[in-house]
Amino acid sequence: MAVRVLGVGAAAPELRLHAADVGAAWGRGGRGDVAVCAPDEDTLTLSWLAATRALRAAGVEASDVDVLFWGTSRPPFAEGPSFAFLAASLSLSASIGGSLSAGSAHSGIEAFVGAADAVRAGSARIALVVASDAVRPGPGTGFEARCGAGAAALVLATDEPEAAPATIGATIGARVTRTRPFLDRYRGDGEVDNRDLYDARLFREEIFLPVVNEVAEALAAFDVRAWSLPDPDGRLGAVVARKAGAAETPSATVYAAIGDAGAAAPLLGGIAAMDTAGLVAIVATGGGRTTGLLVDVAAPVPGAATTLQSISGGATASYAEALRARGQLLPVGETIPMGVPPESAMFVRGADEMLGLLGGRCVDCGTISTPPSIHPHCINCGGPKLEPVALSRGGRVHTFVVNQTMPAPFVAPLPIAVLDMDDGSRLMLQAIGDGTDIEIGTRVELVLRKYAHERGVPVYGFKARAKKDDES
Ligand SMILES: [Zn+2]
Repeated sequence: MAVRVLGVGAAAPELRLHAADVGAAWGRGGRGDVAVCAPDEDTLTLSWLAATRALRAAGVEASDVDVLFWGTSRPPFAEGPSFAFLAASLSLSASIGGSLSAGSAHSGIEAFVGAADAVRAGSARIALVVASDAVRPGPGTGFEARCGAGAAALVLATDEPEAAPATIGATIGARVTRTRPFLDRYRGDGEVDNRDLYDARLFREEIFLPVVNEVAEALAAFDVRAWSLPDPDGRLGAVVARKAGAAETPSATVYAAIGDAGAAAPLLGGIAAMDTAGLVAIVATGGGRTTGLLVDVAAPVPGAATTLQSISGGATASYAEALRARGQLLPVGETIPMGVPPESAMFVRGADEMLGLLGGRCVDCGTISTPPSIHPHCINCGGPKLEPVALSRGGRVHTFVVNQTMPAPFVAPLPIAVLDMDDGSRLMLQAIGDGTDIEIGTRVELVLRKYAHERGVPVYGFKARAKKDDES
């Protein structure tokens, strides 16, 4: 049974850091930019954005997805409900299957292969694959100026006619994998920052090139049009490309735009190539494992053409701002903790309505009350029967304020907006940015972000983002 790619999506975080600024802090040079998460972004919010775009491109409803396969070396909980949080924020079914792969930069391709096998075996009709990463590099390491962040998502399905329209043009083909026990970039137990390569020449000549070349050569036996190749230092990718006779390497464009996006990098380079017919080879390496696989593109895959646009842009951050956003530069002094612990009843009971962005619709008069846990009765008629309903993700600013001073860990200026949503509901949410791009009447869309990170627990919710003029 063939496994088809119905649609793809990509995402990158808000901030861009000049490698030269990192180099300057350590008496070195540097070139290019890398993408860095803002304080309210992480691998889960990036995954949400890429997956939302992939589902939209594929024309697949979240409720129709059977399995979610997520690969990231940095799940938001080292141990905890990372998978369930992502599934809930995407409004996937409560009976969703699948798995979370972690532990290395190889985890993204593991998710892809796992999802393809589940579809091929017939245990899932529609699979959602997400690969995301936002590695925290050790300050002063050579990797720091190269370490980026991003996410890629793919919607896979069987070729059964009832599963999806028969016109979609990419199928997953052969694969090859090699496993060898060596240390490259790693993070020890209990460590937060990744260690750099100990011996770059040893890595290049005895680890990376022999294994990656072997896998690439196996794929080069086919008539490959475009390649996604790993490039740990900005030079090795080109060496492998030359050896494999690769003419087109969209992965190089992805690395240039956002740096090394870890577990997401191989799939980002892969989906960027799916806008043109021909064989696409994707090679991923990390954690002692290297896997290559082929995707046969017969016609452009929906969403592929906007991959590079989805990861471009971003606001320039200084090195100090990037360190602060990554939690490597911390203020001394009092912070304002949340009044209630994140494990408490309020969060347990409110998780579904926060992650799924639910309101309560009155069965008597149809008015939507938000948030439902605070309004057990209809705000219009006082009726006691409210049914949970997914709120609109688009609306307009009714009014707003911009807080100019905020206690740590919050960062000022912090806009808070009252929104009139397209379904008639009214919400009060934080807005992304410094408030200069919103005014009364501004069109907004809601995106998942992190509201707080406390006692090791990320707290997610939706925030309003002003729509630009060219966005529908
Ligand atoms: Zn009512």
